[in-house]
Amino acid sequence: MSDNKSGNPAKLSIETALTHLGRSPDDHFGFVNTPVYRGSTVLFKTLDDLDAQNQRFLYGRAGNPTTDGVEEIVNALEGGYRTRLLPSGVAAITVAILSCVRAGDEVLICDNAYEPGRQFADDFLERFGVTVRYYDPRIGAGISELISPRTKAILAESPGSLTFEMQDIRAFAEAAHAAGAKLIVDNSWASPLYFKPLEMGADIVIHAGTKMFVGHSDAFAGTATATEERWGELELTRRRLGFFTSGDEAFLVARGLRTLSIRMAEHQKRALDIASWLEGQPEVVSVLHPALPSHPDHALFKRDFTGSGSLFGVILAPAPRASVAAFVDQLQLFTMGYSWGGYESLCLPVNLKGIRTVKPWMNEGNLFRLHIGFEGVDDLKADLSAAMERYARAR
Ligand SMILES: *Cc1c(COP(=O)(O)O)cnc(C)c1O
Repeated sequence: MSDNKSGNPAKLSIETALTHLGRSPDDHFGFVNTPVYRGSTVLFKTLDDLDAQNQRFLYGRAGNPTTDGVEEIVNALEGGYRTRLLPSGVAAITVAILSCVRAGDEVLICDNAYEPGRQFADDFLERFGVTVRYYDPRIGAGISELISPRTKAILAESPGSLTFEMQDIRAFAEAAHAAGAKLIVDNSWASPLYFKPLEMGADIVIHAGTKMFVGHSDAFAGTATATEERWGELELTRRRLGFFTSGDEAFLVARGLRTLSIRMAEHQKRALDIASWLEGQPEVVSVLHPALPSHPDHALFKRDFTGSGSLFGVILAPAPRASVAAFVDQLQLFTMGYSWGGYESLCLPVNLKGIRTVKPWMNEGNLFRLHIGFEGVDDLKADLSAAMERYARAR
């Protein structure tokens, strides 16, 4: 199946695509998994071969069988024309944006975009004469009023990082295309199991493969999946920038992808259980989870998504920093750190000061971001209950 990188013509179910695509045991002495290929030089046998340049691999920077396998799986899941594996989620964001713009153009970025993506736009794109404007993530079809003739790309992330507002991807795609702009969607939260941006009109879908695809907090990767129309520029940009992802990392992404559907289902169930339980707890002001009916964008979630991820926010009643410290410092099971998507639960206090520019975060209280892993749900609830008691006592 390795030569068939385009789309998912056989219309395999996602579960079957995850288990059977991206590997070809016959090419590897019958071993089930494609091994780690490490290599820069690829050899040519004759001058004719060198001149023809039609071998499957020419030089390791453009990929190897291990990276190819991952690209084939992700491409089938997203329903793209082609997919590229990249060294990180941030690399996927930067390559996707750079593939759409040149000096004098403008990019629109949602105000709740993953922060390093904003920093790339502010500190780097601006240097090359590309202007950046941020938009209210809940702007919906109103985005067409922000689009100017210079707007060439819109970056959306739904739900967005840290605050989980949803975005109307269908309306954005329509507005972008009417004006000749391209829509890039960061689909890391839901994964292609539960949301398909290309079907809603997006031009490029990117993932922080580091999170759900890898699933074990032990490797970095990103992916960018494009329509046929966007593929040429995307691949040219990656090539010119020299991005390469090692076979070692690719092997770990492939290993993670094999169990993505069952992991996502478990993450979803556990996260929803804990999120709805939290809604009834005394210290809780609100829970930011789009699959809960209390979420302001729940209707949009129900319209476009078939499931939800592991990650959500919870706002606790206002209290000083000492309460936040009392909450996180003595957690027994939840641990504190960046990233998410692994088997282990995480709890991160979030400070939004200075991050938002269009829609400053006005909510009172302390925001925590939770990633729900595979510990026993009752154990996790007990850990959170004890933390909320300490939080209240320290006020
Ligand atoms: C983590 C993350 C990224 C960046 O991924 P890295 O692999 O850490 O570079 C991009 N988008 C979202 C939504 C993320 O959570």
